Amino acid sequence: MTHPTSLLDLTHAELADLLAGWGQPRFRADQVWDWLYRKLATDPAGMTNLPAALRDRLAAETTIDPLTRVHEQRSADGQTIKWLFRLPDGNTIETVLMFYDDTGASARPRRTVCISSQAGCAMGCVFCATGQAGLARNLSAGEIVAQALYTARWLRDPLQDLTGLQFQDLTGLQRPVRSDDRLTNVVVMGMGEPLANYERAWQALRTINDPAGFNLGARHITLSTVGLPQGIRRMAGEPLQINLAVSLHAPNDALREKLVPVNSRYPIAELLAAVRAYIGRTNRRVTFEYALMAGINDMPALAHELAALLAGHWCHVNLIPLNPVAEYPFQPTPPHQAAAFQAILEQGGIPTTMRTRRGIDIDAGCGQLRRRLNQTRQNQT
Ligand code: SAH
Ligand code: SF4
Repeated sequence: MTHPTSLLDLTHAELADLLAGWGQPRFRADQVWDWLYRKLATDPAGMTNLPAALRDRLAAETTIDPLTRVHEQRSADGQTIKWLFRLPDGNTIETVLMFYDDTGASARPRRTVCISSQAGCAMGCVFCATGQAGLARNLSAGEIVAQALYTARWLRDPLQDLTGLQFQDLTGLQRPVRSDDRLTNVVVMGMGEPLANYERAWQALRTINDPAGFNLGARHITLSTVGLPQGIRRMAGEPLQINLAVSLHAPNDALREKLVPVNSRYPIAELLAAVRAYIGRTNRRVTFEYALMAGINDMPALAHELAALLAGHWCHVNLIPLNPVAEYPFQPTPPHQAAAFQAILEQGGIPTTMRTRRGIDIDAGCGQLRRRLNQTRQNQT
């Protein structure tokens, strides 16, 4: 038996080829694309404007949603929801939905989903739960896109999928459902290094952006990388101009090597050269992420060093209070010291934001939920 085709893994052109090979007219691909990415269908049986024979063939020879929800967890304030999904081969990934309602009177409330690009990660950053677990495999384009689709469906109807819900989770369902609730932002900041899975991650983002389908604007999409220079240079040439965030975490090679091991292969000078090339070509401002770890990378002298390093770059720094990972010694910088670090950067002319700490009660750091559930499972066996 041949393997069923995963529809979300196909580009629009590949879908058209598949259906043309089945003897279907060209417009059928547009209809199926519309069902998948606008109407968010998960079952060909509901694609009512297709001929019954085509629906049957799609049902027999293709699959749509590769995600099975195995766990859902909500922060106490209801503003963060984390899902653990099982993939068809048994690997698990995390996806996090964050609500930002206090965006000011004029701005639309944001619903941001943080999606994974790999099951695990090979980069081994010492403060990251995903990095500690190693890489299982790359996600396919469809597995990446499916996380955004799931979220959009959930926002449309939070009660449609109750699998994996614990009884206590049902209390979180009190969140009022807004009729205009929809996904506004996608950030590729979940598990994995997207530029180590470049082709598939970018195919997924093009699909998410496609005006004929999911139609999320490039300015509402952000990709976060550990800092792979070739990938950053390649991104600079992409017609789709999404936001780039680079996980820096230290202002010099000696310290960065200890926190982000890949720095020994791609030192800061090489990384920043790629970032400058990116800015030069795209004229877009780059974000540097810096997770503040108490006594490790949060000293005032390092803030001065960081300001000097980034001076003259079209950038801003996003300071992130570390999410502590159980069994690892790193702790977040206390708020007053984080504020002092931020003040030094600002005085040095580097625009800075402090990311609010999200869902600390739900293992919000990437890889943490999967890690805890795996441990629980191991303890049970
Ligand atoms: N691999 C990519 C994207 C996924 S990680 C990258 O490294 O950028 C997304 C962000 O979460 C990165 O900035 C990463 O450094 C940060 N991160 C990882 N573990 C964290 C933790 N325990 N606390 C705070 N931020 C963390
Ligand atoms: Fe991988 Fe990013 Fe975690 Fe580093 S921080 S291990 S690159 S997911």
